[in-house]
Amino acid sequence: MSYLIMTAGPTPVAENVRLKRSEISKNPRFDTSFIEDYKSVTSKISHYLNTKNATHILCGEGILGLEAACASLVEPGDRCLVITNGIFGDDFADFIKLYDGEVVVFDADRLNGIDVNKLEDFLNIDHDFKVATLVHCDTPSGVLNPVEDICSLLKKYSILTIVDSVSAFPGIKVDVSNIDILLGGSQKCYCAETGLTIVTVSDEAWKVMESRKTFIKSYYANLLKFKDYNFPYSMPVNDIASFKVAVDNIGDINAFWERHKQVAHLCRSKVLEMGLSLHLQSGFSDTVTVFNIPKGFDEAGVINEMIDKYNIIISGSFAYLKNKVLRIGHMGESAKEEYITKTINSLNEIFNK
Ligand SMILES: *Cc1c(COP(=O)(O)O)cnc(C)c1O
Repeated sequence: MSYLIMTAGPTPVAENVRLKRSEISKNPRFDTSFIEDYKSVTSKISHYLNTKNATHILCGEGILGLEAACASLVEPGDRCLVITNGIFGDDFADFIKLYDGEVVVFDADRLNGIDVNKLEDFLNIDHDFKVATLVHCDTPSGVLNPVEDICSLLKKYSILTIVDSVSAFPGIKVDVSNIDILLGGSQKCYCAETGLTIVTVSDEAWKVMESRKTFIKSYYANLLKFKDYNFPYSMPVNDIASFKVAVDNIGDINAFWERHKQVAHLCRSKVLEMGLSLHLQSGFSDTVTVFNIPKGFDEAGVINEMIDKYNIIISGSFAYLKNKVLRIGHMGESAKEEYITKTINSLNEIFNK
């Protein structure tokens, strides 16, 4: 049985990606293709970001990248600003505390993208921070934040910026000129299997890591280990080879971004046409549409009926949004007009019974 996967991740993995992953594994000691694939895919991602900043891939899912960024930049006592309007945004505070940083939270309205003017007022009063964290698309609510504007503001105060773009890039264009560490995950818009995290690091961030007064208190989550080696440990040969195929599948990146924009617009207008209400007031992401569950229905009931009757998988949400909203992912392979139409038509049948 195959399903139409319209979740907010993991996303559908194309056949050529799956087949590549199942090839007989070469031994990287005798075969240089791993290093070639690794260099090719990481430089392609930096190219999509239009940056000279180096991209590296760690073997572990998105969360590992978030932790590695905090572990590598935060030293005991460092003041860090956690800019948040969502669940992933909040969670950065835990990573910073884990590495003994001092957390200050800028808690923003959860139904709209972060208001840069309000953040500016806040920073006018207090801007003594080494690092700031924020999330590009906070997936459980789908809220999209203006990360470029926020990071250029933070840079005026020389604050290092960590941006979780796991559920946005490469589906949404991002300019990393003011972003010190940009984080991605293989199972979202890249449409590869879960298990790789992608980090793009600025020269300034490397310098800060290299001039730390204290050791990085993690072995695997130490980004410096990845700086000079292409991959410092046993090489995930097939994961990288298949990830490269997934990144090649993106094709023309401008067309890819445009497709995400159009599909997201289509999805939101169809949700409204059904008479449902969108969860957010503004700050809609091109990668996920989040709508309120109408009266008389519940999360599990709708999700199960979508699977059982229509073979379509959509997402619920979690924490304070559990049983409040449903989410349709349109990321990479699933960001196609025909899939949106099919998903919406099926939901329409369920809600109009
Ligand atoms: C999926 C996701 C992550 C990574 O979570 P994993 O479970 O480790 O893949 C991080 N941040 C956001 C915003 C995400 O959507």
